[in-house]
Amino acid sequence: MISFDNTEYAFAYKSNAELKKALLMYSVMGTPALLKMGLALIPGAIKWNIPFTKPLLRSTIFKQFVGGENLEQTAVVANKLEKFNVQVILDYGVEGGNDGEAGFEKSMNEFINVIDYAATQKNIPFMSIKITGIVRFTLLEKIDAAMHACEGSLINRYKKVLSELPEAEKEEWQRVADRLQHICEESSIKGIGVLVDAEDSWIQDPVDAMTMLMMDHYNKERVVVYNTLQLYRHDRLAFLKDSYTASVERNFMLGAKLVRGAYMEKERERAVEFEYPSPIQPDKASCDRDYDAATAFCISHLDRIALIVASHNEQSNAYAAQQLDENGLPHNHPNIHFSQLYGMSDNITFNLAKNGYSVSKYLPFGPIKDVVPYLMRRAQENSSVAGQTGRELGFIKTELQRRNNKS
Ligand SMILES: Cc1cc2nc3c(=O)[nH]c(=O)nc-3n(C[C@H](O)[C@H](O)[C@H](O)COP(=O)(O)OP(=O)(O)OC[C@H]3O[C@@H](n4cnc5c(N)ncnc54)[C@H](O)[C@@H]3O)c2cc1C
Repeated sequence: MISFDNTEYAFAYKSNAELKKALLMYSVMGTPALLKMGLALIPGAIKWNIPFTKPLLRSTIFKQFVGGENLEQTAVVANKLEKFNVQVILDYGVEGGNDGEAGFEKSMNEFINVIDYAATQKNIPFMSIKITGIVRFTLLEKIDAAMHACEGSLINRYKKVLSELPEAEKEEWQRVADRLQHICEESSIKGIGVLVDAEDSWIQDPVDAMTMLMMDHYNKERVVVYNTLQLYRHDRLAFLKDSYTASVERNFMLGAKLVRGAYMEKERERAVEFEYPSPIQPDKASCDRDYDAATAFCISHLDRIALIVASHNEQSNAYAAQQLDENGLPHNHPNIHFSQLYGMSDNITFNLAKNGYSVSKYLPFGPIKDVVPYLMRRAQENSSVAGQTGRELGFIKTELQRRNNKS
C-alpha cells in the first residue's frame, strides 16, 4: 500500500523560506475571520485597481497556487518539478465571461498558444480548457435545457437540438464547434492532451456532447481529448459507463479525468431556487463510493480508457494505485495518470512520483485579474481546518521540524 506520509519527498522542491511562506498562507486560510475578509475584499480591490492589491497577491496566494502571469513564467515551475519527475498540466486561467465573439476568439488563440508552448517543453504533456472560455454561457444554458427535454442518446439529443436552433444561433454554435475543433486539431498535431474541464451541471450536456464528438474524431489511435466527470453528481457513474459503451460502438479511446466536483454549494442552491432535484449526491460517502467505482471501472478497461485520477483525497489515490496492482498493471501504465493542483497535496504528488507513477501538477497561469476566481475557489476549498488546511499545515510543520532536527 503506497504511503503519502514522507514529507522529505513531498517538499524537496521547496526551500525553507518557501515552506515557511506556505505555512503562513495555510495558517491564514485556516483562520475563518481573515479568510472571510480576504474573500470579501480581494475581488473588488482587483476590479477597482486598489493600490498594492496586485503586488500583495502576487507574493502570497498567487505564488502558492499559480504558475505565473504568462507562459514563460510557468517554465520556472515546470523545470523545477521536472527534476522530481512531476509533469505539468497547463491551465490558462480564463473563467467564462460574456466577452463576446472577440473574447472567445482571443481565448481560443490563447489555448492554441498554450498547446504550441507545451509542445516545446519536456514535461508538459497536457493542457486544460474551459468551454465557457470560447462560448456564450447563455447559449450553452439554452442548448442544455433543450437537450434535457429530449429523449435518446447524448449525441442524438445534441444533434436534434442544434437542428432546431434559429439560424443565427446555429451559425454562432458552428463558430464554437470550429473553435473547439481548432484546439483539438492543434493538440493532435503537437501531441499534447486536451483536458476539457467540467463546469456547472446546467451547461454540461452540450459540453459532454461536443467533447465526445472530438474524442470520436481524435482519439482513434491514441488519446488526445479527455472529458471530465464530476462524481459528486449522482448520474456520472452511469454516464461514464454510457461513454465507454459509445466509445466501443464508435471505436474511439475514451479519455476520462475523474474529479469529485468544485461547485457543490452553487449546484445545491440553484436546485433549491428553481425547484428541481439536486444533481448532487446525498452525502460525501456516496460521492466517495462512486469515485472509487469509477476508478475501478476505468482501470479494469485501461485497454480502451485513458484515466486521469484528479484528486487530493489520499484514499482515492491509494485506491487507484492498489487497483493497478490487483489488475497486474505497472505503476507507469501509459493509460493512467494522477494529478493534483499546484500548491496543494504535495505529499500525494511527490510520493506518487517517487514510486514510479505518472503524475502532474495542474498549473494555472494568467494575469492576476483573470485568475482571481480560481484563487478564491482554492482559498474557500482550503478553509476548513478539519479538512484540507489541517492536512496541509500538518505536513508543512512536520517537514519544517524534520529539517530543524537535521540541522
Ligand atoms: C487536477 C485537478 C483537476 C480538476 N478539475 C476540475 C474540473 O474540471 N471541474 C471541477 O468541477 N472540479 C475540478 N477539480 C476540483 C475537484 O472537483 C474537487 O473540488 C477537489 O479536487 C476536491 O476533491 P478531492 O477529490 O480532491 O478531495 P475530497 O476532500 O475527498 O473531496 C471534497 C469534495 O467532495 C465532494 N463533497 C464534499 N461533501 C460532499 C457531500 N456532502 N455530498 C457530496 N459530495 C461532497 C465535493 O466535490 C468536494 O469538493 C479538479 C481537481 C484536480 C486535483
